[in-house]
Amino acid sequence: MKIIFLGAPGSGKGTQSKLVSSQLSIPQLSTGDILREAVKAGTEVGKKAKSFMDAGDLVPDEVIVGIIKDRTAEADCKPGYILDGFPRTLEQANALQQMFEQSGEKLDSVVYLEIDPEKVVDRLTGRRVCSKCGAEFHLKFKQPKEEGKCDLCGGDLMHRSDDHEDKIRNRLGNYEAQTAPLIDFYEKAGVMKKIAAEGSIDEITGKIMGVLK
Ligand code: AMP
Repeated sequence: MKIIFLGAPGSGKGTQSKLVSSQLSIPQLSTGDILREAVKAGTEVGKKAKSFMDAGDLVPDEVIVGIIKDRTAEADCKPGYILDGFPRTLEQANALQQMFEQSGEKLDSVVYLEIDPEKVVDRLTGRRVCSKCGAEFHLKFKQPKEEGKCDLCGGDLMHRSDDHEDKIRNRLGNYEAQTAPLIDFYEKAGVMKKIAAEGSIDEITGKIMGVLK
């Protein structure tokens, strides 16, 4: 099973794709997480990506496509995988299409999480992420038991450098210009599943599992 999660920053793609990944027992591949790890580890990819990420801009397509080619070739991806945050441009979508054609595989579904862009700013400015395990919390909607500490592993919670309002507005602008055209692209391919990203986390997961069955 090959599934893409599509949606604006803050639509809940990361949270939902992780939950669906554990329910379907297939890995969730987040290009954002892979890039943040690369920046932390100081690899060549991390060095190339850092300035784009800090500004809330997209990392060049060739860097991202290389990451996805390598990651999807790993053994745990054999039964399928969920792509979270990839593709984000038409060039990336075409590169993915070519990968599938070469390997004789196909894309099963694109889950598109629809959200009002104004709600996104509120969601993202209050988001806090565990620096150790990546678990997400929110100052208003999902407060940790102890301020600044992760409920799961006790790690320090951090405010992502691109989760400040100016960077968020830039990311939303980039999403509209570069990623939103993919909605039409995948609608034409007949694989699009639209979900209103409103309600509780569990309700949204339920809706997604319903359309994937
Ligand atoms: P995310 O965690 O998905 O919000 O991604 C964080 C940042 O990583 C984005 O703002 C981009 O700078 C970069 N990034 C992640 N995925 C991609 C992608 N598919 N194409 C280009 N840049 C990406």
